[in-house]
Amino acid sequence: MMLDYNSLLLALGFSATCLMVTLLGTWVSRRADSFLLTLVVALFFIVIGIFAFSSYTMETGMLMASVAYAFLMAGFSTIYAGSAQFRTAQSPWMLSAALSAITIAPGLPLMAWGLDGVAFIFMNTATAVLLIGTGWQYWRARAEAPGPLTGMVFLYVLSGISFILCAGVLLYKRQWVLGHAPNNWAENLNLAICIAGMSGIGALSLALHQWRLAARHRHEANTDPLTGLLNRRALFDRVSGRPVGLKTAVVLFDIDRFKSINDQHGHAAGDLVIRIFAEELTNGTGGQHTVARLGGEEFAIILANTLPGRAERVADDIVRSFASREIRLGEATLQCTVSAGVAFGSPDADNFEVVLNLADTALYQAKRNGRNRVQMAEFLHRVETVETRSNASP
Ligand code: GH3
Ligand code: MG
Ligand code: MG
Repeated sequence: MMLDYNSLLLALGFSATCLMVTLLGTWVSRRADSFLLTLVVALFFIVIGIFAFSSYTMETGMLMASVAYAFLMAGFSTIYAGSAQFRTAQSPWMLSAALSAITIAPGLPLMAWGLDGVAFIFMNTATAVLLIGTGWQYWRARAEAPGPLTGMVFLYVLSGISFILCAGVLLYKRQWVLGHAPNNWAENLNLAICIAGMSGIGALSLALHQWRLAARHRHEANTDPLTGLLNRRALFDRVSGRPVGLKTAVVLFDIDRFKSINDQHGHAAGDLVIRIFAEELTNGTGGQHTVARLGGEEFAIILANTLPGRAERVADDIVRSFASREIRLGEATLQCTVSAGVAFGSPDADNFEVVLNLADTALYQAKRNGRNRVQMAEFLHRVETVETRSNASP
């Protein structure tokens, strides 16, 4: 048995309702990404629009046509606003309200004048523009999750095209006044595409939500919450066991006499000093190198493609800049210093842990030499190697 147009329309309305409830449940369980909530609101408008349109297909009357028109336009405007929100993380409600007003305003007077055909041409065209625009927004954001987002773009653009066909058929037939719901091959095709498209878009929206949650968890697991730098785990995940060549420097920093800052000014002041030093590191490396907080008041940077003089200069600039910085603590002003140890990889490529140990030894030396300074490990390395060789020789 073939299902008629209205049964399929009702099926679309019920599946949109189910999707709305599913998205709402997912959003409520972890209110992390509010673009799902925007989709829920959009689906709420669309569901009302679909049921109003369904009742209009059975009994003609401009009231139901106008209700369907207004809610569908509000729904598609909100879908577009949700896609812009997904990409820019800005609140969608102003955009949704503005687009709804722009798209609803011309249609209602047309309905009231009996030009329902013209109103439907406008509605289908506006819907197509909003859906293709939605696809465009997801396309621009595709780097975040290429698979699901490209799928979304395809489905939104396909749905948009099916609305263009609906407008095209009414235009071609010059049906300015209908007196009933439009009924032609383009409407049937549009309904079939909407049924398939909505399930796909619903599933992909949920997948995107999970994708974002997973990315957020990954970011939290790798980030030091106090400074926003990579944490020790993230640094070791990136470089542990990897060879470090001649042109790569590992620089270790340790804030001097930090315990006494905590003791004299309190733990919050210590935290502020740590954050300020993290800023110095980010500025000093120009955001181009790996910068991590290893724990407490210890930090590491990895400078790739760097010559010895340059690495020493970068470390020295950071040490000087931090020492010259006046840190305001209420009435008091504090000046702190930091010591650094610099080590390079070897021609036969030591692994990261070996180079980190060399930098640590150099840092210890910098502390012993009076703090607030940079110590290169190259020399220590060579001395240790020579000593080991001479010990080994008979
Ligand atoms: P040195 O010049 O030899 O490095 O001496 P120091 O006092 O800096 O070194 P020490 O290792 O004795 O002290 C480090 C202190 O850092 C001890 C610990 O309580 C404090 N600390 C560790 N993590 C944090 C943190 O996240 N915030 C604050 N405020 N203090 C921390
Ligand atoms: Mg320390
Ligand atoms: Mg210290």
